[in-house]
Amino acid sequence: MSRSSAADSVGSLLAEIANFLVDGVRILSLSDRRHWGQDEHEQLRALEDALDEAKKDFQGLAPLVNGQSHYENDRSHDSLVALRQLRNNFSAHIGCLKDWSRLGGPIDPAWVRDTQALQRDLHRAQYRAAGRIFTSGQESSTRCLGAFLVYRQQRAWRNRQELSVEEGGYQRRHLEELRVCNNVGSFHRHGEEDIAFICDFCDGHLIWEDLDKMPSVRTAHDNSIWTSSPTATTLPLANPTPANQPSPSPVPPAQRPGQPQWQATGFSKSQYEQKQVVFAPVAIANHSVPIGGGWQSFITCPFCEDEADGPRDKDDEEDVWQPEGLFEDVASFQEHLEWQHPALSAATPAESTCLVM
Ligand SMILES: [Zn+2]
Ligand SMILES: [Zn+2]
Repeated sequence: MSRSSAADSVGSLLAEIANFLVDGVRILSLSDRRHWGQDEHEQLRALEDALDEAKKDFQGLAPLVNGQSHYENDRSHDSLVALRQLRNNFSAHIGCLKDWSRLGGPIDPAWVRDTQALQRDLHRAQYRAAGRIFTSGQESSTRCLGAFLVYRQQRAWRNRQELSVEEGGYQRRHLEELRVCNNVGSFHRHGEEDIAFICDFCDGHLIWEDLDKMPSVRTAHDNSIWTSSPTATTLPLANPTPANQPSPSPVPPAQRPGQPQWQATGFSKSQYEQKQVVFAPVAIANHSVPIGGGWQSFITCPFCEDEADGPRDKDDEEDVWQPEGLFEDVASFQEHLEWQHPALSAATPAESTCLVM
């Protein structure tokens, strides 16, 4: 079944996969619906959903990597290997449907799950293919494409430098940041106590140790940039915990304007004690592709980066900035933030040298 062609590209393999999905939809559409049960309807819906998402991903990703032709013509080795494998899996899957349409009888209800699993694989394969193009096109930045998308959103707000944001505006921004995060990856319970964010673009993991739920807002706000009123709203997690637990109590927003705001109030999983953690989008916006065969993403400190002459991204030509502020996990990033960029009023002006603005 396995085929490999020198002419394969991301675009040609995606087109083949899309054709398999179209075939599957056609096979079901042409079959006699009078004999259909719920399983057949679900199977058709699953195939249509997979096709829709594949198209949506394709259209959404192409502009992020210099346009459709760039994405279509990409031939990164790892992307081709992954997409060829996926094409073969789709081929085998649609082969089952072809057999079913020839032989008749009820459809195998397990195939819906196969379709959905392949849909997830295809989603990740497309994101990783785009992530590889983005990373290979960059010389200076350490951010992965997933991180860049969150970072870009944060930077857009910051550059507007609004003096005041209407009531509830900051909270909406925090939720919007999290929405972008949920588009680039997903949160999962990791082990008994930790929460992991796994980026769809680079497969890098960020681990928040001993955390009951991921807080959805910053603890307090920088007057010129962020604000929040801590609430019990939480991110969708793979392994949700009961909702009848106390919500975090507000920590007084006693800081001065201009101090970096990176904290969020959560609860430990082990003791259920209140604790300050790194607000998820702050870490996610600054993570990089894991290196050296590792699975955890490194994190760049955005406040040190700002201090060292402005943000770095792929637009920057000269790179004099040395990434000394590169942390191997969320815990060491948080330790750095606590020492170097304290967010609470205990900081003296001399200590709070790394300003957000
Ligand atoms: Zn990533
Ligand atoms: Zn720093």
